[in-house]
Amino acid sequence: MSQKKSFRLAKYLAFLTAALLLLNNSLASERKTENLILITLDGLRHQELFGGLDLDILKATTKDGKPEGTKTYKRFWDETAIARREKLMPFFWGEWMRHHGSIAGNPQKRSSVRLANRLLFSYPGYSEILTGQARDDLITSNDKVLNPNLTVLEFLRRKMALPQKQVAAFASWDVIGVAVQNQADTVFTNTGYEAYTHPDPVIQSISRLQFEMLTPWDTVRHDEITFRLAMAHLKTYRPRVLYLSLGETDDWAHDKRYDRVLAAIARFDAFFKELWYWLQDEAQYRDKTTLMITTDHGRGDISLNWHSHNAKIKDAKNTWLAVISPDSPLRGEWEGGKPVVMDQIAATLCRFVGLDYSEQSPNAGKPITRLFDK
Ligand SMILES: [Zn+2]
Repeated sequence: MSQKKSFRLAKYLAFLTAALLLLNNSLASERKTENLILITLDGLRHQELFGGLDLDILKATTKDGKPEGTKTYKRFWDETAIARREKLMPFFWGEWMRHHGSIAGNPQKRSSVRLANRLLFSYPGYSEILTGQARDDLITSNDKVLNPNLTVLEFLRRKMALPQKQVAAFASWDVIGVAVQNQADTVFTNTGYEAYTHPDPVIQSISRLQFEMLTPWDTVRHDEITFRLAMAHLKTYRPRVLYLSLGETDDWAHDKRYDRVLAAIARFDAFFKELWYWLQDEAQYRDKTTLMITTDHGRGDISLNWHSHNAKIKDAKNTWLAVISPDSPLRGEWEGGKPVVMDQIAATLCRFVGLDYSEQSPNAGKPITRLFDK
């Protein structure tokens, strides 16, 4: 090559590099998400989420078979599915889904979100969400053991170079403390009945209360405690990645307390409202935070088996996924489209902050592209 030619090539390459850098910077500057919040609501059925109170179930769980006299009926019943779900979750439907986000998984709209794992109980479901892997069948019980695969929280901490307290998981169920990580103490965890140390004496007393105000279950504390401690952590340590795992919906359902299931869902809605207005008041989080909200499994779909879930109950593989993000233009309910698989959530979280999850976990599900379509 002549000197002149190679000079021209070098000039061309320099121009190309500059153009690519510019493109890359403009893509990064278009992206608004700097913080991620993942929320799971254990075993919350799509039936209640999209349709509110199910009268057949309330009938089946009311002693005299006459639900009309109950507090639950008076509080949550209405004629249409839309009116019922807005009574159950007024903030979620009225504010989030109307103005800020979108939700997949309503079978009435031919939208499907489903689990890839075949076991359809909690730990396999959480692991599928947190690792993006489920087809390897490595988790076969709810035993309290570290996750056999690396998780998305571990990946995010490493790639974003964050201190441990800035990648935090707060959960009502103790097993989440190990489900979130492959290596102990990579993620900051406070899960199940566990004390939380905080400089504020009010938070200290909330932490102490969890051991006084017990639930009927040995491994699941009240969601109220989990939420209060998570909010305290959020305000004080400003995590870039927060996982909030709430669980009473599942345990009350197993106990066949439909009234308590609905009350727990209404509490979640109040938590969302409080969390959202706090985030929107803070420069670090306002319009820079992506939230993904989902559940670890569905349950039975008829009044005979609504309280249960396992591999034999077909409807338990059907879940749902809500996303509130400054980087996703979608609003409201998804209609039709390709089914979303729960093993795509981990990679989707990463995509929101411009990271490629397949770097760590090449076998994980890929990002849900529909969220990013302009
Ligand atoms: Zn569960």
